[in-house]
Order: sequence, then C-alpha cells, then structure tokens
Amino acid sequence: MSLRICDWKYGKRWVYSITYDEALIDLHRFAVPFHEEFGIPGHLEVVVGQIGEVRQIDGSSFNGYRHMNGDELKDLMARGWGVGNHSWTHVFIKPEMVDQELRVAREVLEQAIDAPVPLYCAPGSNRNMAPHILEACRQLGYLGAMSIREGINRPADECYWLDRSPLIHEYPPPFFSKHDPFRNILPARQSHGWVIDYCHCPIEEPIHINKDCSATQLRKRLETVLAEGGDEVWCAVPEEVVFYHLSRRHATIDVVGDSVNDRRYQISFTDLPAGVTCKELTFEAEVPAAWCNFPRIWVDGVAQTAELVRPQVLRATVDVGDGVEVGFRAG
Ligand SMILES: [Zn+2]
Repeated sequence: MSLRICDWKYGKRWVYSITYDEALIDLHRFAVPFHEEFGIPGHLEVVVGQIGEVRQIDGSSFNGYRHMNGDELKDLMARGWGVGNHSWTHVFIKPEMVDQELRVAREVLEQAIDAPVPLYCAPGSNRNMAPHILEACRQLGYLGAMSIREGINRPADECYWLDRSPLIHEYPPPFFSKHDPFRNILPARQSHGWVIDYCHCPIEEPIHINKDCSATQLRKRLETVLAEGGDEVWCAVPEEVVFYHLSRRHATIDVVGDSVNDRRYQISFTDLPAGVTCKELTFEAEVPAAWCNFPRIWVDGVAQTAELVRPQVLRATVDVGDGVEVGFRAG
C-alpha cells in the first residue's frame, strides 16, 4: 500500500485560472456576467496607486477606463474572485522603487480589500520580472509572481515565475497568431499543467488587439475550457492553487503504522512559507480491496468519507493544518 499527494486538489488532472490586468470597472459589462453564468472565478490585478481612479498611465491603451475601488474589488471577492498586486505605478520598477511598488502597494491594497494579497503580477512587460524584483517578492513574503510569458505551469515548477496564456485577439509581429480558444489546453491536460489566462477588459471589440480579446472570444474560451476540461479541470483562483502547490511541495509523508488491518502516515511540513493559510491536500492511497467497502480515511483518529477512484484506490481531500496523522483501515 502506498500514499501519494495528488498533483492538484481533488485529484484533478489540470488547472485553469484567468486574470484581468488593471481591474477595470467595465469588466461588469461582459466578463463578470460570463463568470457568474459559468461559475468560474476570475482574478483582478490592481494598479494600487490608481485604485478607484480613471486610468492615466503614460502610453496605456486603457487610459480613460476606470479602475475599481476597494468596495468594488470586495464585491467581486465576495463572488469568489481573487486580487493581486499589479504595482503602484505600472512603470518599470527600478531597485530603489521596490519598497513603494511591492511593499507599500501591497499594504494599501490589503487595507482596501481587507484581505491578504499573496501574489504579485508584473506590470507592462517581463522587465518587471527582473532578478531584483523577484528577490524582493521572496523577501516580502509573496508566494508567487505572475509573468507575461506564454506557457503553462507544471506541478514541479516553483511559483516565482508563473507563465500566463495571452487571451488576445492577435499576437504581435512577426507571428500574428490568431485567437485560439483551445490555446494550451491539450499541453495542460497532457502534462498536468496549470493554465493562467491573461487579458484586460474584453468588450465588444478588443481595446488593443495584442493585449485583449473581445467579449465573444472570452465567452468562447470559457465555454471551451469547460467543454474540454469536463470533470478533469480544476477552475480556481491562483491563491488557492498556489496554497495547494506549496503545501504539496513542502509536505513530507512518514509511515507510522503498518499492520494487516491498518496503515497510518504522519504528514508534516518543512519550510512552508508563512503566507500559506490553507493547507488542504488531496491524497490517493492504494489499499487492499476489502478496505474499499464503505471507504474511509482516518484523520487524527476521526473518520472522513473517502472516494473510491477505481478498485483498490481511495482518494480524500484533508485539511492538514500544521500536520496530522492520516490512515486507512480494514472495513
Ligand atoms: Zn498592466
């Protein structure tokens, strides 16, 4: 018999998240209603120096649109969305600006939404993923940093360079690749990856064809994720995915009991970052066939229902807290 921690929560095969840079109020026109309809959570990347204000950033395609204020961000959080720090000014963060852009901005944002902000999302370009910035993210206790590089994130990757899939009308020159509602879904499925879509504020027509898609394209993307993903995809806010990812990577399993009638394991954490406030893990165990009748997992001696995945394989999601003993017994 063996116990393993699943790559993703609930034993899902791949993961889907979607981010909306700039957190503009016009998301309520199309994006928010789509999310309500499909039950997929979204994620807002906030330019903290302009919370609640009409955007005015040098050269931005989104100038003239209004950023959400604290109450409007909180309203979406109440609907299951998450919020990240997209810097204070949205310009290149020089070493001497790190304190304002990463520490002060996060503090102000946390006060505005009355919740912790564990994720940084690079503004502008991957220049804002420079080593001095990622080092500051680690020092300041961020749990992850989202880039503007296309790709999927895999179960063995670390979180200080998360890739995102551009959900845009057309790639910039010289490729001009057109919007593809299937983008990265097959690779994610095959390599148990995590897709994080990147866009801004889809409306009737893309505000900028290299930075955004239309509302119709967004809707098609969400429909495609659900149709292709079925029961295999975990649609979640990046915070919950990062909590799971870090808990899994920092967990250790030790066998503490092994007899013909029961097997017990101690779960503990080593160097788990303090910002991980939810430590739920999904376990899968191979057990004798007889233990699959009325399946249970015992957590610190208390029985919880386990799921029969297939003959001799049980699965359960457990709040591990700061360490528990889990076990399986003969029925
Ligand atoms: Zn931005």
